Amino acid sequence: MIKILVIEDNPANMKLATTILSLAGFEVLQANEAETGLILIREQHPQIVLMDMQLPGMDGYAATRLIKADAKLAQIKVIAVTAHAMKGDEILIHDAGCDDYLSKPYHYQELLKKVNLQLKLTGNELDKS
Ligand code: MN
Repeated sequence: MIKILVIEDNPANMKLATTILSLAGFEVLQANEAETGLILIREQHPQIVLMDMQLPGMDGYAATRLIKADAKLAQIKVIAVTAHAMKGDEILIHDAGCDDYLSKPYHYQELLKKVNLQLKLTGNELDKS
């Protein structure tokens, strides 16, 4: 089963993302802070991380930089989730090494489209038929 780690500090957003991804057939791992997320990444090897960029403590930018700087983890696809849809944020998200991004609030179809695109890029599609 394809594993997706959701790093999100807002309980309502966590529940939403988890529900959408579980119903779509993914195994969902949860972390409400980046530090816990990084431990789960090393232990569980998710294919995708849905990364809230605004987190208490280490933020999503710093966490993504750590993932992408580690040769063992760099192939994990990181989809940034941000409350800000400003032009400058797009550049910051890209510079941090994120593979794609979503602005909150998002429609469930948008989330699944972004996830499936990343899986296609890694040859890990959920349904190859
Ligand atoms: Mn947040």
